[in-house]
Amino acid sequence: MSQNAMKRLYLMQVGSMPEYQIPIVCYLVQTGDGKNILIDSGLPEIMPEGESEFENGQDVIEQLASIGLKPDDIDTVISTHYDIDHAGRHAAFTKAQYVVQRVHHLDAASNPRFAANRPQWDQPMERIRLVDGDTELLPGLELIETSGHVPGHQSVLVRLPKTGAILLPIDAVPFGEGFTRDEQDDGSNPDAEAIRVSTIKLLDLVEREHIGLVIFGHDKEQWEGLKKLPEYYE
Ligand SMILES: [Zn+2]
Repeated sequence: MSQNAMKRLYLMQVGSMPEYQIPIVCYLVQTGDGKNILIDSGLPEIMPEGESEFENGQDVIEQLASIGLKPDDIDTVISTHYDIDHAGRHAAFTKAQYVVQRVHHLDAASNPRFAANRPQWDQPMERIRLVDGDTELLPGLELIETSGHVPGHQSVLVRLPKTGAILLPIDAVPFGEGFTRDEQDDGSNPDAEAIRVSTIKLLDLVEREHIGLVIFGHDKEQWEGLKKLPEYYE
């Protein structure tokens, strides 16, 4: 196994949507050569006006501190997309390079959906790595373009030495019940077709790679049975 291969995956719940009991989560990957890679950063410390459906829990900074990491120890932030419950603490990681799909970053610049959270994700361009489509970031760490939820959304595949491959669809598949080839379009969602294409892309990936664990983006029932920081998958 090469030194920079993936070693550990930590799961953190950093908040919730109380009305629906939905967990807000982010992830930390550690490599064999000591790199710390954050996947999303959770909710902002102070919620912008009108975002009352979210509730903060123990935030990403506190959770990282509990395993001995400071914000400056984070080398990379994989940004799946700029929604407020996924990119709310990006600006805290001042030493990190941000990795995001080009399509998403360019869309966000003029999309009102991401305006309130702009101070978090609008970082100096020399610190942002724009990627185009599926990308192997490191050996055992792959970004999978899964537009639909938003343009240029990305999911993440982590290959661990013991557990094997773990797929993190993020908001491409927020709930396990949606991970199906069955048609779910009731005509109400204009993005339904793109969501379906991405869902099938991930289902094909799981079959092809024999992926044993898929951790859905906001699935309370599944989340309750998973290992959370300080525990980890290895
Ligand atoms: Zn989400």
